[in-house]
Amino acid sequence: MTFILGLTGGIGSGKSAASQWFEGQGIAVVDADIVAREVVEKGQPTLLQIQQCFGDWVLQPDGTLDRQALRDHIFKEPNARKQLEQITHPAIRKSIIQQLHNATSPYVILVSPLLFETNQHELTQHTLLIDASEELQIARASSRDRQNIDQIQKIIAAQMPRIQKQKMANDIVLNDGELDHLYEKLKPLHLQYLARSETS
Ligand code: ADP
Repeated sequence: MTFILGLTGGIGSGKSAASQWFEGQGIAVVDADIVAREVVEKGQPTLLQIQQCFGDWVLQPDGTLDRQALRDHIFKEPNARKQLEQITHPAIRKSIIQQLHNATSPYVILVSPLLFETNQHELTQHTLLIDASEELQIARASSRDRQNIDQIQKIIAAQMPRIQKQKMANDIVLNDGELDHLYEKLKPLHLQYLARSETS
């Protein structure tokens, strides 16, 4: 069985930067955020289920998901979030499992901002946390997305606290320097994962 590494970290911690580096080493990466978008694309059974659950208003005139309308609805109706997650989470999980299974690199990475929060770490054999202080998270995420600091702080508050993720992760890389420093820290881990993939 292929060795599966779960890679996580809060918003702006450097998850994408790390996973791009691993991809550069020839490692297949399954991104839970991308899968979450794929399962609600037009024509997907999950989108139909959402439409049947909430009504036709969830679709835009072109038949694609009206994310803003759904977001507003969930904000007003706390139960709606649960209903939506009951539809989307199993579909996301199924697709992640399929994509991990189809990957052909020596080991495979599942990158997810909510790896622990959504129990996706259960799909992996080992976890790596890309860690950064809240100040760095805010500085990086705000310069990347031009999101305002309030929004980023809200996202951080909704994610599992950093300290708890540190307790759960098998490996931790503190991304507090230049990008090259991050890559230097990832190299020995990559070698360990390669070695481990040979024995699994
Ligand atoms: P995440 O995927 O965890 O939200 P990203 O990997 O997208 O975070 O990083 C957020 C932003 O900060 C990106 O623009 C990225 O290029 C930048 N970044 C990440 N790590 C570093 C670093 N060590 N030095 C400088 N910029 C960084």
